[in-house]
Amino acid sequence: MSKILITGATGHLGKAVTEFLLQKTDAAGISVLVRNAAKAEDFKTKGVEVRVGDYNDPASLRTAFQGIDKLYLVSSDDLENRAQQQENAVKAAQEAGVKHVVYTSFQRKNESDTSPIAFLASSHLHTEHVLKASGLTYTLLQHALYADVIPMFAGEKLLETKTIFLPAGEGKTTFATRTDMAEAGAIVLLDETGKFDNQSIELAGSEAVSWEQIAGIISQITGETVTYTSPSVADFTAALTQAGVPALYIGMFAGFGQAISQGEFEKANGELESLLGRKPETVEEYLRGVYGK
Ligand code: NAP
Repeated sequence: MSKILITGATGHLGKAVTEFLLQKTDAAGISVLVRNAAKAEDFKTKGVEVRVGDYNDPASLRTAFQGIDKLYLVSSDDLENRAQQQENAVKAAQEAGVKHVVYTSFQRKNESDTSPIAFLASSHLHTEHVLKASGLTYTLLQHALYADVIPMFAGEKLLETKTIFLPAGEGKTTFATRTDMAEAGAIVLLDETGKFDNQSIELAGSEAVSWEQIAGIISQITGETVTYTSPSVADFTAALTQAGVPALYIGMFAGFGQAISQGEFEKANGELESLLGRKPETVEEYLRGVYGK
């Protein structure tokens, strides 16, 4: 049996992948990489081996990856530094003798500098390139936008404002839940046939929805009328600046809004459904869990 290590296991995605692995295989074959071992006590009590390392510290990664066959590399949340951090991880995997790296990349149409989300795309593309050039066996899981980001984009105070304000136009997105992405990741890691070797797999939901539809779904769930307004990027930036939102977040929301309006995340391809062997959770099902309480 392959020895698997999950990075980012104190975060949402890595934790969920580890939980799915625990359901599907023996804990003895599972290790996690964390920065702070105290945050992984729960896994330790379940028999998971906890190793300490930091993407910024190549030596810690080399030590942590010893004896590992398959590495599930969760993309870092440090957008400024992650190109180097993830390169550190791939190099450490090579040096430690890891056989196979599964990297959590992103779904896209536009890989050029003109992409409104170039600020995060370039580091993913860099990591994909480094991994392909490394000679390691790789699987690129190109994740769609998580349905879990909808409440953040819709606004924390949505049920007070009753308006979704995002420059996403009529663009549609094949959102999928982070939990379904995690289960798919566990299935890929446990495969011993080699069918995912050196593959890029675009993981997305089965249906594309617009923000107009999302407003309608939330209205139906809550019984409140929620509307959707798509301002120009200039109006969006001015309104959020006036509301005191930090420029970094405004740029991020505006970038995603524009990318959505350009159809960056609109493709459904059935790969996630086929991996899971069932329909992925729909946006409506997910939002019912958030707003239907
Ligand atoms: P998360 O909950 O913020 O978890 C990030 C994990 O990365 C944490 O375990 C964190 O460890 C670890 N980490 C951060 N910096 C590290 C470093 N220098 N060395 C080692 N570990 C480090 O994020 P998530 O929700 O699980 O999402 C995982 C990734 O998916 C994100 O990082 C982001 O790249 C991407 N993402 C995609 C979407 C989408 O819609 N497709 C949405 C959100 C995020 P600590 O606990 O020590 O901080």
